[in-house]
Amino acid sequence: MSSTHGAAADSGSTSLPGLAEIADVGVDRIRGGYSRHLFDDADRTLRDWFTERASRLGLDVERDRNGNLWAWWGEPGPNAFVTGSHLDSVPGGGAFDGPLGIVSALEALGRLRDAGHRPARPVAVVAFAEEEGSRFGVACLGSRLLTGALHPDRARALRDEAGRSLAQVYADAGLDPAAIGPDPARLDMIGTFVELHVEQGRGLVDLDEPVALAASILGHGRWRIRFRGQGNHAGATPMQSRQDPMVAAAATIARIPDLALAVEGSRATVGRVSALPGGTNVIPSVVDCWLDARAATDDATNALLQSIRAAARDAAAVNACSVEITEESWSPTVRFPDDTRAAIGAHIAPRGQSVPALPSGAGHDAGILAAHIPSAMLFVRNPTGVSHAPEEFATADDCAAGIAALERVIRGET
Ligand SMILES: [Zn+2]
Repeated sequence: MSSTHGAAADSGSTSLPGLAEIADVGVDRIRGGYSRHLFDDADRTLRDWFTERASRLGLDVERDRNGNLWAWWGEPGPNAFVTGSHLDSVPGGGAFDGPLGIVSALEALGRLRDAGHRPARPVAVVAFAEEEGSRFGVACLGSRLLTGALHPDRARALRDEAGRSLAQVYADAGLDPAAIGPDPARLDMIGTFVELHVEQGRGLVDLDEPVALAASILGHGRWRIRFRGQGNHAGATPMQSRQDPMVAAAATIARIPDLALAVEGSRATVGRVSALPGGTNVIPSVVDCWLDARAATDDATNALLQSIRAAARDAAAVNACSVEITEESWSPTVRFPDDTRAAIGAHIAPRGQSVPALPSGAGHDAGILAAHIPSAMLFVRNPTGVSHAPEEFATADDCAAGIAALERVIRGET
């Protein structure tokens, strides 16, 4: 596979016609891949595309008070079968993470409609808002608001990198910031949720299969680690008398791989650092690092966090700095229910063959919904194993296998 950014973005557009329609939206010329963040120009364009695409299929599109989009086949009502994913991306993300689930859902519904299928229960395609948390720092923002997993007061106060509050951004998008939060009436309408998603590892490559169901999602969380020191002149401040929070941050980050290796199966990443005031000739006064940590059990994730916390305190003390660790989001380990997975699997492979089940190291809206309603996930093989990067990929054949599987699931369930 080519590693040039343009080719990677093109590869996404060639494997599935629906993705080709949005291949130019939110292309990130600096990072490569796509940057599509809540209510930015790209996200608005994708929302318009979704509305237009769904309307053409005869679906009724509505936006809920948390900014999620719902396209209904038939009257919204109880025991609905809902499928979908998200349209937003990480900074410089791939073409498939999120949009593949939405394009596949619309494609599957279109085929069922063309084949004369008349669903016996309401069906909807959902596009959840800000799944990646790239603008406001909280992953699965839309599904957390819907289910009440994120308190609306906390959500309204979230700020993006430009300092704009979520309340302002929602208001600018025509949503009432006072109305965001738990939506039990809508949640009660969902009878089953199935999210199709590109696999974010090599499980299906190793199994030599195009499609799998999800068994579980690793528990994971995000924390902001803020080191405070003394901002000062880079030339006039002797090395002996510095309180440099960048050095404390660097020392902590350098220890994280070993700390994670000590907790079996865990992963810890600092993918984002910011320094205040951020001048080349200035010792920073504040350095923020954002930690993403995940492990097989919640106890293991906690153990890993405690060891990183201790390392940050040590590094702060050595550098005469202080440190403060704030949780930004936390998702416990999710095990998708066996009976739902068996029922969905039986639709996909009706003659008793079994569909493989894989654990997911990545978080998903389906993991948030699973705490409230029977939920399942379908993974489509990613030959590169790379995700959250332009090299993320799925072949046209595997995308077709994913759509066919989802079509059988919707037909069987509705
Ligand atoms: Zn995703």
